[in-house]
Amino acid sequence: MEILKFTKAHHDYRERLVSFLAKEVVPLIDQCEATHITPRSMWQAMGKNGFLCPWLEEKYGGQGLDFLYSVIVWEEMTKIHFTGLAAGLHSDVVVPYIHSFAGEAQKRAYLPGCASGEIITAVAMTEPCAGSDVAAMETTAVTHGDEIVINGSKTFISNGINCDLVVLAARNPDITDRHKGISLYLVEDKTPGFSKGTPFEKMGWASQDTTELFFSDCKIPVSHRLGNEGDGFPMLMQKLQQERIVCATGAMFAARTMLDHTLDFCRTRTQAGKALSKHQSVQFALVEMQTEVEILKTFAHTLIRDHMEGHQIIKETSMAKYKMTQMSKEIASRCLDIMGSEAALESHDLPRMFRDTRVTSIFAGTNEIMKSIIAKTLGL
Ligand SMILES: Cc1cc2nc3c(=O)[nH]c(=O)nc-3n(C[C@H](O)[C@H](O)[C@H](O)COP(=O)(O)OP(=O)(O)OC[C@H]3O[C@@H](n4cnc5c(N)ncnc54)[C@H](O)[C@@H]3O)c2cc1C
Repeated sequence: MEILKFTKAHHDYRERLVSFLAKEVVPLIDQCEATHITPRSMWQAMGKNGFLCPWLEEKYGGQGLDFLYSVIVWEEMTKIHFTGLAAGLHSDVVVPYIHSFAGEAQKRAYLPGCASGEIITAVAMTEPCAGSDVAAMETTAVTHGDEIVINGSKTFISNGINCDLVVLAARNPDITDRHKGISLYLVEDKTPGFSKGTPFEKMGWASQDTTELFFSDCKIPVSHRLGNEGDGFPMLMQKLQQERIVCATGAMFAARTMLDHTLDFCRTRTQAGKALSKHQSVQFALVEMQTEVEILKTFAHTLIRDHMEGHQIIKETSMAKYKMTQMSKEIASRCLDIMGSEAALESHDLPRMFRDTRVTSIFAGTNEIMKSIIAKTLGL
């Protein structure tokens, strides 16, 4: 029995997305990989066609669709192995902060643009000395009358160049408690005192404009604080479940795509007079990987269902994030071994997927941090 109930409407949406990606996105991937940036026009085309924030209510410019439409977007983006749009990050990680915690005026001002692709978002937590230990952040936000003055810097921010709106975590320096001093703020691009670095040259996610953000006496209105002062840390924790489901499921989809490529390759490539897929050692390796992918797909679908039903599944999402990203890295490596030198050529799909999947165990909480969370839930 299927765990997730995809209807005809979901299938139609998927078909539209597949043909959109083939026509409007795939031809531009090599250019985006080379320039480390994805054109804004591509974001706008995604929005215009209903592939950003499909879950947003119509009153905010969305379509009021269920979470499975987002899952379809991550899955199809993974099949073309393109990280540039980071649609899962925008639609299902950052925009939910605005939707859940911003005041009504801010929601009406920003959410329609988030759905149309006119507003590209980023979330900025990480600092040079505050990665896993987010509470160590040093960027300050100080209230003066009806203004907030921000000073500091963030690093490794996805969509960092393209972003029009940043959900920024910063601390009130007068509050000594590491967690209680943190709040979340909305900072618009072009606000005086806010500037961006240049795109990082990094391993994998080459089309993604990851960079640093700088704040120097950057003034924003008090109304741009999300929720109450000091509520930032619990807000971040509240949204991590969905972020980790996006990351884990994306890694599982990537593993499946790499394996599908390898299966096709092994059926046609011959060695010692027969197809690679007829060699028992290759068969066993493929079977082992397929088994793992199937098991973790079932796990992912169960978590998506439970998440949609509103259950708290911190332990399970931490397990999924750790296990699925680990599996994806291992499958990338094993597929390369099985396909041999041809798959190591940049003209082949695998090198990019190999690099892209490698960092998934680092962001959205490292896998060591996932294991620490799981250990706590086990009372260890
Ligand atoms: C491609 C990419 C995109 C990113 N996008 C964003 C973004 O959009 N926004 C954003 O805010 N951040 C982003 N990040 C940053 C990312 O979230 C951090 O890299 C991550 O939180 C880990 O922090 P760190 O790299 O500073 O590693 P560190 O925290 O310095 O960790 C280094 C090592 O120590 C281990 N370690 C640390 N603490 C513990 C502990 N308590 N117990 C056991 N082991 C520990 C880690 O597991 C790791 O192996 C991105 C990173 C990458 C690579």
